[in-house]
Amino acid sequence: MLVDRGPLSSAYLAHSPAGDVASIASRVDVRRRGVAVGSARVRFGADPRAHAFDSLELPVGTVDAAGAEVLVSIESDEVTGALVVARDGRVEAGFPFFDWEARCLDETYVDLSQPLYSRLPVSYGIVPFMARAALLRVAGAVRTHVLPKKKGVSAGPSFPEYPVCGVVDRMRTEVLRGLSLGEAPISFTRPRGTLVLSHDMDELSALPGVEKLRAIERRHAMTSSWGILSEKYRMPRASVTSLVDEGCEIFSHGYLHDGRLPYLSRAEQLRRLRHFFEAYPMLRGHTRGFRCGQLARSRSLYSAVQQVFDYDLTPPTTERGGPYGARSGVSTVFPFWNEGGLLHLPLTLPQDYFLAFVERLSGPEIADRWISAATDVLGMGGVAMHLIHPDNVLRSSVLLDAYDRFLRWARDEGIDVRLPGEVAQRFGARPVAHAV
Ligand SMILES: [Zn+2]
Repeated sequence: MLVDRGPLSSAYLAHSPAGDVASIASRVDVRRRGVAVGSARVRFGADPRAHAFDSLELPVGTVDAAGAEVLVSIESDEVTGALVVARDGRVEAGFPFFDWEARCLDETYVDLSQPLYSRLPVSYGIVPFMARAALLRVAGAVRTHVLPKKKGVSAGPSFPEYPVCGVVDRMRTEVLRGLSLGEAPISFTRPRGTLVLSHDMDELSALPGVEKLRAIERRHAMTSSWGILSEKYRMPRASVTSLVDEGCEIFSHGYLHDGRLPYLSRAEQLRRLRHFFEAYPMLRGHTRGFRCGQLARSRSLYSAVQQVFDYDLTPPTTERGGPYGARSGVSTVFPFWNEGGLLHLPLTLPQDYFLAFVERLSGPEIADRWISAATDVLGMGGVAMHLIHPDNVLRSSVLLDAYDRFLRWARDEGIDVRLPGEVAQRFGARPVAHAV
């Protein structure tokens, strides 16, 4: 049972009367018989909304609801009824809850092997930007309209839900509530959640976009975090120091942005990761975070990242049509430690790229998507991680309008805006020895 890591280690520790996680786990009884369900809907407590659920190959059965409080119910072709109930200070779950949570967080349900395009001898960059967006649009339409649907409950969103998936967090909250241990998934998250502004700079030609984004942020008195590359280009020293002097944070976006970092030997991964501090020696002691280009990821990369950086911003909460196909994502809106002990701050909000170039929305429509997704994430007390590229704001001016509207909303709502390093520190990240 995997209760001593992940958000479990913080959420459960925070709620444990005995100050350990085992005492929480010992009060949750899980069933290990039943059938795997791939397309189900669940409902949480009194909330009438249905959410997509997939047992990720784990067996599911219903539990006896007589004399119990039903916390979660399930509807599917295979299994329908009570899924999680509370009775006499204990919780009974109709599936191996802790294992399921771990499968979501570790993305073991996703094939994270090297995508074909990053194995080609030419760079993916050779396919023009707009052509790639068009291909993704076609792929999305095929998934939505052409692929044969299973009969029964297959209509409706699939797991993990897009653009926000909080099913893991809601499930955990219900379990804790059933144990009378409170509502909040993680008690030391501020009740209204936190917003983090991040930017990945993919090309040096995006430099004018940096100032355009900063101008908007200054208007709303906000600072942000910037991912830069170490080998594909060098950001001019003056640009680096001016961001740092303004109170912004700089994290590593990797080496070349070629999608290959997760699939190299450990020695080459470490060489490329450490190269960041050779390219930008002035960022030793400042840069503590990393997000891999293209959100490419593997367990091997994570374990190398852990030797060089204090936290990782790579995995998306939910992604459609990224490097790993139709669906992927860690399905949580909270930072969490992975199996090896690396702190992840997931990308919880929909990316600028998909909204502007794949869905081709207007500025107000994009802002509405961000506000609605952020409202969901913050409503769960989570960390709303926003990403907009300086590269993309030079390609589409609607993104600047959308960003301005989004930040105005955040300011008017009085939302807590933090740098990733501050959030990581709050979640207990400790410095590694790279900065010496
Ligand atoms: Zn990038």
